[in-house]
Amino acid sequence: MKHGCEHNKSDRKQFLKSQVLPERCQHFIGGRYLDSSSGESFKKTLSAYNESWFEVAVGGAPEIDLAVKAAEKAAAGPWSRATATDRAKLLHRIGDLIEANVETFALAESLDTGKPYSETRNGDIPRSAQNFHFFGDLAAHQSFETWIGDDGSHHTSIREPLGVTGLITPWNLPLYLATWKLAPAIAQGNTIILKPAELTPLSATLLCELLNEAGVPEGVVNVVHGFGAKSAGEALVRHPGVKAISFTGETTTGSAIMRDAADSLKKLSFELGGKGASVIFEDADLDLAVPTACRAAFRNQGQICLAGSRLIVHEKIAPQVIDRLLACVKKIKIGDPLDDATTMGALIANDHRDKVAAFVDHARTSGAGEILCGGKIPASLGEQLANGAFYEPTVIAGVAQNSRLIQEEIFGPVLTVQTFKTAEEAIALTSGVPYGLSCSVYTRDGALAQKFARSVRMGMVWINGWFIRDLHTAFGGMKRSGIGREGGRHSLDFFSEYKTITTAATGSSQSASVES
Ligand code: NAD
Repeated sequence: MKHGCEHNKSDRKQFLKSQVLPERCQHFIGGRYLDSSSGESFKKTLSAYNESWFEVAVGGAPEIDLAVKAAEKAAAGPWSRATATDRAKLLHRIGDLIEANVETFALAESLDTGKPYSETRNGDIPRSAQNFHFFGDLAAHQSFETWIGDDGSHHTSIREPLGVTGLITPWNLPLYLATWKLAPAIAQGNTIILKPAELTPLSATLLCELLNEAGVPEGVVNVVHGFGAKSAGEALVRHPGVKAISFTGETTTGSAIMRDAADSLKKLSFELGGKGASVIFEDADLDLAVPTACRAAFRNQGQICLAGSRLIVHEKIAPQVIDRLLACVKKIKIGDPLDDATTMGALIANDHRDKVAAFVDHARTSGAGEILCGGKIPASLGEQLANGAFYEPTVIAGVAQNSRLIQEEIFGPVLTVQTFKTAEEAIALTSGVPYGLSCSVYTRDGALAQKFARSVRMGMVWINGWFIRDLHTAFGGMKRSGIGREGGRHSLDFFSEYKTITTAATGSSQSASVES
């Protein structure tokens, strides 16, 4: 793979065009790149420029079937004899290769998603490498549970691979989330078919080059591009040879996958939508709380499942919090994602930007809230970005709890503001949405923070911070935000099957009466 360059943005485009971008993102099956049997492909639109620089193959049932065959063949081959140490070494090699190519991946990911290069360079891509190193370490240090029964029998529960596993990932953190699933699936000795989001096929395609370089046996990891319903995604979910689906994406897609997976009774893990909140109590350190809440709302153009898209603030401090917040928002620099100075890039697509804008228009026309800043497409970004999917960071105050703006996931740079008087009210507002993924609470009162954290219906609560992750811990949401947890042993559990092997006590003559 060609290494990236820390040059200016026009050099970066040139570098991407001339040395990184494939003519077409092809499927990667059995260790080889190939097109769909139908020859179908589509032109990928780069959302910042509203231009197309490469195509993407569209796979369907035939490509999924081919990938399942390749994965089954690999599962029956030498991969089945790879030890935990072998797999750990492989994972570390992949992590090292991503690190060696961090600029190239970061540029490609920024181009594909529209998100700022500073975020992909310092966030998404290093974390993708870390996913491999983390699960490499964990794979090498797994132990099994053993018991000695009262009668002296020996019981050991070991984990075995599931077989062929399907991974379906969204566009908002493409390589980061694909590797978050790939690494534990490899760690547990599975074979894999990854279906990346159709809007962001690039980093997964580039990763395949590194998988070959790292020595991943052919067929162990396969990538099939395409759409969701009636396309590669649905075909993967329905295929009887696929034993499990780990899915991250929208809640409604999760429901569709659950229905389609029912006939073949697949194991499922769902990381779905979110509607996070930043809750600021009267005694909070505002120098910490406000900039962090601003980042939680607008990082990645607000397109993060964990985004703090609702600010819930004690009424006594609301005026000063809003003043400080608006000052923070003013510092956000919208621009070309490949430019180092940019802190807010383009949304994923123009039609997604229009959906976000429709929420704001609803507030404007129905009086659902007061727009304090933003609420429009930015003017004067220059000729090159004029048709890009940009939207100003928007703050809307005085929104009622039952409004669409509070109850639905907007997934864009829109922050609503609500106020509260009591802790009970803050808890009720935070939990009073269909989602239950994450929230942050800001207070200097440790007991209050604990009471809040214990009371809200959220899978993850940060006290005086946001998006602080340790990869050992459970990641996931309650209610419509998901089923199951990922992270550390939770991922290892999902990607494996327990088998308990019992050896009868030596010399014991087991009678039917002791069987249980
Ligand atoms: P999406 O559900 O539209 O698509 C996600 C993936 O599912 C894509 O690869 C798509 O092709 C595929 N897909 C769509 N329909 C399918 C079907 N019927 N069968 C099989 N596959 C299908 O989601 P998106 O728009 O790409 O991503 C944004 C959503 O993801 C947001 O709701 C966000 O909150 C959520 N998300 C959640 C987490 C989390 O950890 N909880 C993390 C990131 C994103």
